[in-house]
Amino acid sequence: MERVWSYFNLPRTAQETVTIMRDCGLLPQSLNCPIHRRRAMTLYNDGSCGKFRCTKNRCGKSLSGATGSFFAECKLEMHVVFALMYFFTEDMPYERVMHHIGVLKNSSDPNEKISSSTIAAWYDFAIIN
Ligand SMILES: [Zn+2]
Repeated sequence: MERVWSYFNLPRTAQETVTIMRDCGLLPQSLNCPIHRRRAMTLYNDGSCGKFRCTKNRCGKSLSGATGSFFAECKLEMHVVFALMYFFTEDMPYERVMHHIGVLKNSSDPNEKISSSTIAAWYDFAIIN
């Protein structure tokens, strides 16, 4: 069954968001080691997007859990990005986005806010992609 998103059921933690994004294919579910080619790497939870690591012998090659995705260069917490993408689809004005992101971030860091330039950059990125 397809999930219908609203402000009230947006994921509230980065880990919850990463699980949802991986389940619906927005983040890779598996990667092969670029050195060993066909060898699938093991996914480890690292508190952000996770890390894929090759476990063959002493290879140890690791890649971000967001490698090759829209979110590969993302510096924001994933639940914040998820909310930004939702607010973009709702065409929400910046002032309201700043307020809602402030509320979302209060659960992890009350001093961290989001700037209008960050919102503009993500809205532009979403339009281009
Ligand atoms: Zn390897």
